[in-house]
Amino acid sequence: MKKIAVLTSGGDAPGMNAAIRAVVRIADYHGMEVYGVSRGYNGLINGQIEKMTPRSVADIIQRGGTILKTARCEEFKTEEGRAKAVEQIQKYGIEGVIVCGGDGSFRGAQLLSRLGIPTVGLPGTIDNDLAYTEYTLGFDTAVNTAVSAINNIRDTMTSHERVSVVEVMGRRCGDIALYAGIAGGAEVIMVPEIPVSIDYICQRLLAGKERGKLSSIIVLAEGAGHGEEISELVEKGTGLETRPVVLGHVQRGGTPTCRDRILASRMSAHAVKLLSKGVGNRLVGVKGEKIFDMDIDEALAQKRTFSKELYDLAIELAN
Ligand code: ATP
Repeated sequence: MKKIAVLTSGGDAPGMNAAIRAVVRIADYHGMEVYGVSRGYNGLINGQIEKMTPRSVADIIQRGGTILKTARCEEFKTEEGRAKAVEQIQKYGIEGVIVCGGDGSFRGAQLLSRLGIPTVGLPGTIDNDLAYTEYTLGFDTAVNTAVSAINNIRDTMTSHERVSVVEVMGRRCGDIALYAGIAGGAEVIMVPEIPVSIDYICQRLLAGKERGKLSSIIVLAEGAGHGEEISELVEKGTGLETRPVVLGHVQRGGTPTCRDRILASRMSAHAVKLLSKGVGNRLVGVKGEKIFDMDIDEALAQKRTFSKELYDLAIELAN
């Protein structure tokens, strides 16, 4: 394969630019041409496709977001939409596509592969909600952003002897809350995978106060409740002054961590190699620090598991 395209789709994630850069440079190094598609599947349908060179991806490895822009595209979910995309792909002589995105984007990649366009997926989403891979691009950066916010919040909470509820992203997956909670020394971590009662939380906070804790932080995944509401209930149940902080979109942006940049570079190199051999319908992932690829159908059929081991560790650490 000599001509490939790359696009970013779904929610943006830090590390997407590092992935685009690596795809372009590694493909060029191996004598392949790369076309950048703007605005996810919209760009494929509308022909927003431009040739990229190693120089057009200079100075982006350290930037959050995605220079190719990202979008949701309802039209790609229809047969007609996908047919238009295939027409554009053929018009440009593109032989394979690399899609960086989340679960939804991979369903699109699966359908594109079925239409005879070899497509390879790179996991780009801050949520870490893809079952087949241990880590997704952007997750490490999002966790680090949340931890640095928790550090700041802790300083002021300790001075005032308050409780803080820090709401982080994660509708169905509590990994950001779990990792940021452990690294930020949270007293309580609330995730959608393990529902807990307000009574239980209040008991733990009061027991911590008995043991001499000066402040307490609850890290709450958005899928486990709303910051304001949980904060009110905790204040009522404990009598401790409690404040909510919703981190919101600050977690999506920012300069990617070294880990995300290196992971993006390694995964992208793997994706380019697959396409260079004409292999499509694969997702690239990482397990035990090893980069691997897996059939899309098989990868998407996997069920996510939540690390109960880490969750239990967090409880012991909050002692
Ligand atoms: P994130 O995890 O950040 O939300 P995502 O890739 O899961 O990322 P979605 O909005 O679910 O984000 O999907 C992105 C795009 O992928 C959609 O706008 C659509 O263009 C395409 N897509 C999603 N699901 C399908 C599907 N079943 N068939 C075809 N295309 C799809």
